[in-house]
Amino acid sequence: MNLASASASASASTLNAAWPKLCPCGGAPTALRRKGADAAFADCCGRYIVQGHLPPDALHLMRSRYTAFVLENETYLLHTWQATQRPVKLEFEVGAKWLGLDIKDFVPTGLHEGQETAEVEFVARVRVAGKATRLHERSRFVCQDGQWLYVSAVNISP
Ligand SMILES: [Zn+2]
Repeated sequence: MNLASASASASASTLNAAWPKLCPCGGAPTALRRKGADAAFADCCGRYIVQGHLPPDALHLMRSRYTAFVLENETYLLHTWQATQRPVKLEFEVGAKWLGLDIKDFVPTGLHEGQETAEVEFVARVRVAGKATRLHERSRFVCQDGQWLYVSAVNISP
């Protein structure tokens, strides 16, 4: 079997081997899932990152962007960034171990110039070089042509 036929015949299960089994974002908000049941990556952020479905709202986009950070998926992160704010490229912290995501707030913030907007506040925990830190951010999102995009961080008091 040559390489070309090997990749052409790769089944869904072999493709899945490259992705995590459980979703790094921790799954849907607790109220939406069975107690003690973790979300499978394929049923959670995998739908957006791998299958290309559009997240239905800013909250799901936020979760999937966290997961993309964990997976160091630069393509997805840049693709879900509003074009005017998007960096040229991303640098991932070497050796960073993401420990979890807590969503603190999610509010639709109405129409701005005809486009739906929303804010999501979160705490992401990450360990770099043995030191655990919290990344606390409130993010702004906009929905352009049916696709939710990350715009920028809002300043918040710590
Ligand atoms: Zn997820």
